Amino acid sequence: MTRIDCNVIRDLLPLYIDGACSQQSSDLVKEHLESCPDCRNLQASMSADIKTAAAVPVMDGKKMFRHARKTIFGIIIALAVMIACLGINTGGAFEGGPANIGELITTILYCIFWGVFTVVSRHIGPLVTTSFVISLLSAISAINGLVWRLLGEGGFIAAFISIFTSIPFYGFRYFMGWTSLYAVASVLSLGWLIYTGYYRRKIEQQMKQK
Ligand SMILES: [Zn+2]
Repeated sequence: MTRIDCNVIRDLLPLYIDGACSQQSSDLVKEHLESCPDCRNLQASMSADIKTAAAVPVMDGKKMFRHARKTIFGIIIALAVMIACLGINTGGAFEGGPANIGELITTILYCIFWGVFTVVSRHIGPLVTTSFVISLLSAISAINGLVWRLLGEGGFIAAFISIFTSIPFYGFRYFMGWTSLYAVASVLSLGWLIYTGYYRRKIEQQMKQK
């Protein structure tokens, strides 16, 4: 077989696999494949590719509805947790003294909630974005608070940004000072941010492939 023959056959292969070429071309390809192992291998791998592409699940209406319901449910729960946490911890956080056991439990539940939420929803685009935005705010706020505590500078703006840490994490004041609290919150928030950032990028890449 000459090289040109192979090239012609390879041009025809996609049509041949789809069963879309004329009888004459089909016979020609078949005859060539019998005698040319290279083209036969190519045909096998092209057929496999087409099968895999056909096997990619298409999201049907029902699935999309369930997906949307999960997303809305997730966002409502997240909002409820944030509001409950604000309601319980704000007073103590503004006074600044040690936290009580109720505030400690609130902070622990806040951390557990976001941990579970982030892991469970890591493949659901809008929820990963929700988690990513909150973790980004949390990380900025916690690092800002830590720097503010260590340098004692930053004024009103630093105090304002740190609210996003000082209120939800206030329960840790049950057994630590503000500086340690901001340090712990920084570590937790950065870990959270890296995790959500990783899954957010993964989802973006999958979207690009489709
Ligand atoms: Zn060939």
